[in-house]
Amino acid sequence: MTELLLASSNPGKTREYRLLLDGVGYQITTLPEERINEAVTESGHTYEENARLKAVTYARRSRLTTLADDSGLEVDVLDGAPGVQSARFAGESATDTERVNLLLAKLSGVPWARRTARFKCVIVIASPAGGLATCYGECQGLIAFEARGEGGFGYDPVFYLPELDKTMAELPAEVKNRISHRGRASQCARQVLLQLRSRQ
Ligand code: IMP
Repeated sequence: MTELLLASSNPGKTREYRLLLDGVGYQITTLPEERINEAVTESGHTYEENARLKAVTYARRSRLTTLADDSGLEVDVLDGAPGVQSARFAGESATDTERVNLLLAKLSGVPWARRTARFKCVIVIASPAGGLATCYGECQGLIAFEARGEGGFGYDPVFYLPELDKTMAELPAEVKNRISHRGRASQCARQVLLQLRSRQ
């Protein structure tokens, strides 16, 4: 089976991609499995730039078809922050809980109507020969007043979905994957991968 390198060191993302890409006919491998420990600095100003930088660098390095994503949370009342800085919102070495607490503190006293937010995900698939494809996904919600739920990762415990009356962290993985920004971008990524495979 053709190998696909998942260029992420985030265990939450890797877990989700294993389910999201199930059945597309690729054997998924990861950076640790390929013994690649060089880090790519996410120096881009957009999700696209960062995802492309990671996908292209690791495809060259590994000589494998490589999938990288860059994603983040955009909160309207914070003018779209933390956005591309979502992973570094509370400093480089902060934990998910510290990032969530900082977000809740910044939104202290903000009423439901102004707590609108969205997760965004950009996936770039790079082939070692230089081919590139880009896929986008988005998921709208509200920032809850307190953390709830044990599933998912990152900001999921405070990302509230009014139509389900649950936070993202309260959803089973298969439900999150159906509606999430990453799930939506992955539907396009699956088509790209199927086409690539049919040409090989
Ligand atoms: P990066 O794409 O590696 O720059 O990291 C994106 C950051 O955005 C993650 O570290 C999380 O803090 C946040 N994030 C991205 N996707 C999700 C998600 O599905 N749930 C919760 N937080 C997310």
